[in-house]
Amino acid sequence: KEELNIIQGALELRTKTVEDVLTPLSDCYMLSSDAVLDFCTMSDVMQSGFTRIPVYENDRSNIVDILFVKDLAFVDPDDCTPLKTITQFYKHPMHCVFSDTKLDVMLEEFKRGKSHLAVVQRVNSEGEGDPFYEVMGIVTLEDVIEEIIKSEIVDE
Ligand code: ADP
Repeated sequence: KEELNIIQGALELRTKTVEDVLTPLSDCYMLSSDAVLDFCTMSDVMQSGFTRIPVYENDRSNIVDILFVKDLAFVDPDDCTPLKTITQFYKHPMHCVFSDTKLDVMLEEFKRGKSHLAVVQRVNSEGEGDPFYEVMGIVTLEDVIEEIIKSEIVDE
């Protein structure tokens, strides 16, 4: 039964898209680029439990960086370091994908290993104005794997 489920999940990777499995922007735990890494912010980040945290400028849909929690290893909260100092030091590449990317293609990209988190965009051509890129949320390797095994992975 379990095996059948997994086979079915694997077959569906070719038809399902990133849009079906993403974490919507409204549910993302993010930091503003002008945040200061004081005790309050750092404990909030720790409590969120996430490994990678998108950093936005002015508007939550404008993601400009990714902070890895491990980047904070040498940061002393008493120094009140600006978040920008850390993101500019590590400069993790940001990986963007379109929302209609098929999950098998997404899995290959994650396997190639640049990053296990991608920012999901779509082209918004609704309304009067010119079409524009709109950030919909984030997708991680875990979201794709959950689709294969068809069950939730409970986080540590
Ligand atoms: P983590 O290592 O931080 O637990 P995973 O890659 O294991 O992250 O993903 C677990 C789930 O959490 C996935 O559904 C993913 O989309 C979601 N997720 C990852 N980072 C964040 C974040 N910063 N805010 C909200 N959800 C996130």
